[in-house]
Amino acid sequence: DWAAAVDAVRSGLRPGARVLLVCHVNPDGDALGSMLGFAQGLRRLGVTSLQCTFPGPLTVPEPLHMPAMDLLVPEAEADPAPDLLVTFDAASESRLGALVDRLETATVSLVLDHHASNTGFGKVSLVDPCAAATSVVAAELLRRLDVPLDRDMAECLYIALVTDTGSFKFDLTTPEVHELAARLVATGIDVGAISRRIFDSRPFGAVRMFGEVMGRAQLEPESAGGRGLVYAVATLDDLAKHHQPPYVLEALIDSVRCVSEADVALLLKQVAPTEWAVSMRSKGGADVSRVAVALGGGGHRLAAGFTGRGTAEQIISAVRDQLASQA
Ligand code: 5GP
Ligand code: MN
Ligand code: MN
Repeated sequence: DWAAAVDAVRSGLRPGARVLLVCHVNPDGDALGSMLGFAQGLRRLGVTSLQCTFPGPLTVPEPLHMPAMDLLVPEAEADPAPDLLVTFDAASESRLGALVDRLETATVSLVLDHHASNTGFGKVSLVDPCAAATSVVAAELLRRLDVPLDRDMAECLYIALVTDTGSFKFDLTTPEVHELAARLVATGIDVGAISRRIFDSRPFGAVRMFGEVMGRAQLEPESAGGRGLVYAVATLDDLAKHHQPPYVLEALIDSVRCVSEADVALLLKQVAPTEWAVSMRSKGGADVSRVAVALGGGGHRLAAGFTGRGTAEQIISAVRDQLASQA
């Protein structure tokens, strides 16, 4: 609850307290933006020993570069036993990688999240499945701590909000979301430049690669209980041929999910010969978070994912079977 969360944060405001913020592996706009926005709020409240990190190599895709990235440290340098730990946008402990041990070693830990599939791993947690983004939860906590928004803070929180709402298009885009957006935009952030950088800018090679991957997409009208399944498979060969880094594929699910004949869209992104990052989207008929959880991942009812092992065809059949059992 809010009171417990406010108390947790206040424990990190004691003089000399060391604070560690962690977001989920392979961070997206919400993970990074909510963490770095909140970090700036803590700095404003006087926290001087402050680190931000996430599991894995410390690389941030260019489109997601944002203010306060100087607070990021490699996970190996993260405080082994902070006074306060806060996690962002992580639905389960597995999303924290090796940093999961800080949940034990930290004096106080707080989980900020918005996934319906959150496993309830935090001692103190604010998990609001009705929030469009973790940044909605983080911004409300900052408001309750009387932190005034500034432009850099707002840019991070806005990037989180605009990415997780699909530019204010998805189902959880409530009046409260627009109210928060209004407060963020009022700080003077350049929303046009942010949107162009994140959504409307990609190398020519990526556009050609998207064309090839979409050219191989398959539609199965009978799958997903007759509501239709569309899927596409992007391989390491596709990336190599077009000289593209893996992160450019994050945008491709938005093309797959446009197919009107299918309730469920599926994109397999090869990360190793037998390992795939899988994205799923639903238009409302299927609960893809249930499919994801059954296959070792998580997410939301209409947007979820998991890591799949095996051949592409094996993973597609596993999803097909899960969807059939739901229907
Ligand atoms: P995306 O398809 O954009 O990568 O992810 C959509 C949603 O599914 C996000 O809310 C994300 O947190 C969740 N998700 C994606 N991949 C995984 C995964 O491997 N494990 C878990 N637990 N959740 C995932
Ligand atoms: Mn996320
Ligand atoms: Mn999120």
